[in-house]
Amino acid sequence: MRIAIVGAGQAGVQLATSLRSLGHDGPVVLIGAEPGLPYQRPPLSKGFLAGTTPAEELDLRERSYLDGVGIDLRAGRTVVEATLGDEGGTLRLDDGSEVAFDALALATGATSRTLPVPGGDLPGVLGLRTVADAEALRAGLAGATDVVVVGGGFIGLEVAATARAQGRRVTVVEAADRLLARVVSEPFSAHVRAWHEAQGTTILTGAAVSGLTGGPDGVTGVTLADGTTLPADVVVTGIGAVPACDLARALGLSVERGIVADEHGRTSHPRVVAIGDCAVQPHPHEPDRLLGVESVNNAVEQATAAASVLLGQEPAPRGVPWFWSNQGELKLQLAGISDGHDERVVRGGGERLTVLYYRRGRLIAADVADNPRDFNAVKSALAKGATIDPRAAIDSEVPLRSLISEPVPA
Ligand SMILES: Cc1cc2nc3c(=O)[nH]c(=O)nc-3n(C[C@H](O)[C@H](O)[C@H](O)COP(=O)(O)OP(=O)(O)OC[C@H]3O[C@@H](n4cnc5c(N)ncnc54)[C@H](O)[C@@H]3O)c2cc1C
Repeated sequence: MRIAIVGAGQAGVQLATSLRSLGHDGPVVLIGAEPGLPYQRPPLSKGFLAGTTPAEELDLRERSYLDGVGIDLRAGRTVVEATLGDEGGTLRLDDGSEVAFDALALATGATSRTLPVPGGDLPGVLGLRTVADAEALRAGLAGATDVVVVGGGFIGLEVAATARAQGRRVTVVEAADRLLARVVSEPFSAHVRAWHEAQGTTILTGAAVSGLTGGPDGVTGVTLADGTTLPADVVVTGIGAVPACDLARALGLSVERGIVADEHGRTSHPRVVAIGDCAVQPHPHEPDRLLGVESVNNAVEQATAAASVLLGQEPAPRGVPWFWSNQGELKLQLAGISDGHDERVVRGGGERLTVLYYRRGRLIAADVADNPRDFNAVKSALAKGATIDPRAAIDSEVPLRSLISEPVPA
């Protein structure tokens, strides 16, 4: 069976290597629009931006490994057209070449959302998705005095921490009334805010950007809806990503916010799977909703499951979803899916914070700041389908691991 994978990012590379480790010995063609070896994105807003992680350490796999297991990487090539029938199809690449396949994987990722305001395209207004973006941002930060980060999500806050550690004056502008509002609860948002403010970063919440000022030489300021103007030499946009679904739409696949897939990556066409940031899937922990989860763990797990599906094998059960974000010295770790919680327990405070989330008395998730022990205990409890007594968990002196127990049947 000939398998073609569009997108050589975290998910595409994982799928290609999983196909080999599951015993597939037919052709695997991995096509990626970006030049060079496939790389990891998380360091782009952390060590690579700070200059402490060298470019070679970004590589997901060495060239010799890919060659050794027979993965045919077509780097720097974009798939511009595809045809698909009952028996398979053909991809057309931007150099005019064609790749025929029996099964297709879409791992096209996402692109950074751009600021839809006047001046949003001025020089010095920078998004962060690719290594090229990170290089441009690194160069921009080097000469900057005032940096405005639009968006108080994970990537925006990581960039803010890096820029602040380099001595820049940093302001984060967030439209919601708190940081990370879509993913964590109020006490956790407040903890993260306090940490950034202690570094000297200004955080403006409930603040909408109405326009950017400047000219051909670059951006000079950010204007807010209330008329305030903030000076800016660099504006970083961290306002989310848009799943790359054009190819899927052109093929007539079902697309909502992302390419619609089942929990093992099967799309509406039997010969096509969709994985990673481009896909929305139900998760075993949230079976009734289509989730678009932008994380390394999600990309790797979806790709591993899709490899089994393509080879007609039973996918391994999905693990506990988890995510990390390093914002300077602040280390955040999230486990489980906290949406729909009806109770929460706040543990610690000061240097460390853990927020545990419960639904109908049972642990479903946790957000953890600077406490890997709590994080590991929660992850292991969730993996076993166990819980942690909420009343006892309030005492931060008691190790969470000692409180893991079987849930009481509802
Ligand atoms: C700055 C940054 C920091 C992050 N930090 C973290 C973190 O700390 N923790 C965490 O868990 N996650 C983090 N993430 C998220 C994580 O990196 C993504 O969830 C993951 O990379 C998704 O992998 P993917 O393969 O689905 O997409 P991508 O990695 O985006 O790869 C998709 C690839 O497909 C290519 N492509 C698209 N269309 C075509 C086409 N038509 N033809 C050929 N190629 C095409 C794209 O060019 C791209 O290279 C971060 C992301 C960013 C951008």
